[in-house]
Amino acid sequence: MSPVGGVGINYAIQDAVVAANVLSHALKSGRLHPGHLAMVQRQRELPTRVIQAFQALMQKRLVARALDPDQPFTPPVFLRLPICASCCHG
Ligand SMILES: Cc1cc2nc3c(=O)[nH]c(=O)nc-3n(C[C@H](O)[C@H](O)[C@H](O)COP(=O)(O)OP(=O)(O)OC[C@H]3O[C@@H](n4cnc5c(N)ncnc54)[C@H](O)[C@@H]3O)c2cc1C
Repeated sequence: MSPVGGVGINYAIQDAVVAANVLSHALKSGRLHPGHLAMVQRQRELPTRVIQAFQALMQKRLVARALDPDQPFTPPVFLRLPICASCCHG
């Protein structure tokens, strides 16, 4: 997962919680089968695809432009709000 938004660890923890909830009983009873893994994927695929689509959009629209030396860059309004200014500069 991209670092954009700093949400990767949060999603990894959510993945781990769902995996533990779905797999732990089947693992303990020795009855784990691929269907259990499919259940984890069903619960986690949509939120993961949504956040990755958002990250790709931010990467393309914001990060790539900010890093392009040939283009002048003005941060979007939400990054110029006073609340953001104080948290970014300590
Ligand atoms: C440069 C960078 C900066 C980031 N910054 C942030 C940030 O500031 N905040 C944030 O929240 N997120 C950040 N992220 C995203 C975050 O690191 C990931 O989303 C998160 O680490 C995913 O955790 P994970 O446990 O799902 O996978 P991973 O952390 O990738 O762990 C998977 C582990 O499984 C192991 N593995 C793979 N295949 C096998 C196998 N067959 N058998 C055994 N082991 C295997 C791998 O070696 C690895 O140790 C960043 C990512 C990058 C690349």
